[in-house]
Amino acid sequence: MKIPAALIITLVWALNASAQADRVTLRAASAFDGKGRTIPDVIIVVANGKIADVRSGEAVTANYDLRGLTILPGLIDTHVHLDTHFGKDGTASNRGETPAQAILYEAENAYTTLMAGFTTVQSIGSPSDVEVREAIARGVMPGPRLITSIRPINENTGTPDQIRAFVRTLKADGADLVKLFASKSSREGGTQTMTDEQVAAACGEARAVGLRTWVHAHSPSSIRAAVNGGCTVVTHGSQATPAELQLMASRGVYFEPNIGLVSQNYLENRSRYFGIGNFDEQGFAFTEKGIPMKLEMFRNALKVNGLKLLMGTDAGAGAHGRSAEEIIYRVQIAGQRAADALANVTSLNAQAIELSNRIGTIAAGMDADLVAVDGDPLKDITALRRIRFVMRGGHVYKNIAQ
Ligand SMILES: [Zn+2]
Repeated sequence: MKIPAALIITLVWALNASAQADRVTLRAASAFDGKGRTIPDVIIVVANGKIADVRSGEAVTANYDLRGLTILPGLIDTHVHLDTHFGKDGTASNRGETPAQAILYEAENAYTTLMAGFTTVQSIGSPSDVEVREAIARGVMPGPRLITSIRPINENTGTPDQIRAFVRTLKADGADLVKLFASKSSREGGTQTMTDEQVAAACGEARAVGLRTWVHAHSPSSIRAAVNGGCTVVTHGSQATPAELQLMASRGVYFEPNIGLVSQNYLENRSRYFGIGNFDEQGFAFTEKGIPMKLEMFRNALKVNGLKLLMGTDAGAGAHGRSAEEIIYRVQIAGQRAADALANVTSLNAQAIELSNRIGTIAAGMDADLVAVDGDPLKDITALRRIRFVMRGGHVYKNIAQ
């Protein structure tokens, strides 16, 4: 069959038009690439949801002219509780709430988090995360890429064998990682709860089935149990001494302290938490005492060569959409270098969640997860509060720049 020339021309034109529509350019004052490099007068070409090219100093007309702004890789929070919220009675108890109401609050938290520049979050975790993760992945509901541990393991999960079986069930249920509670809550003093054998069973089995492990550990002994048990990440670590910080660094275990948002948020919203579980007088006293203690611990952590510091907030009700406060606190109050803090929240976080081949840096071939802030966060870290543009997977979810 002979195809008429006119039809061929029409087809070629249509193909070009669709290629054109899939290809957009962004131009900004500069970009921080996620690893420490600043690209001045940056042009980023995005095609089919990926970064196709990154150039500097060309006078081109861009689809998105962000010339007053700085572009960063989409931010990553490795520790949120996306399901937690203040419900209809205004408190975090969520008494009398239906599952439909609960899941809509989680969807709102996902939206708020994305608008704040966080294009990937790890929720650790709740069974409801699974449905929210799938809904966001369908591509209609705005939210960050969501990964979840679904249900946690603690000292009551059972014997080491029972714990191994629990890990395999989590894997079958679609968990992206495993969360362990190896110590009590900081509001109860944070002493070790799981035995060393239980911790090692959980982390060993998780590794065997290809899952990372995130270990809630406050006391020195619970931190050591996580390191010796072959776990991936220690979270909180509020009572870590220089010896545990050094141990994590020498064994290549990531450390995710939470010093700038979670405790402050509980105190700001005291009346909305008070009376729920361990949120009592004694619990809040621990929380208040914990703030300067964690600051000192973090300053010690900054002195440890090779310690891989992740940026996770432990954001719960009242804190969603404010994850950047953790970074601002680390830089402004604890004295971390802004370039290091920004690399932590982008490229290092991506590495810790095993997505560094797709996100966390600005380079050709990476997913087009890009945000733009008003100002230069290397000079003024509070620029992270001024998110003007959010793109995830090449799709623009927010643009109040132009
Ligand atoms: Zn948490």
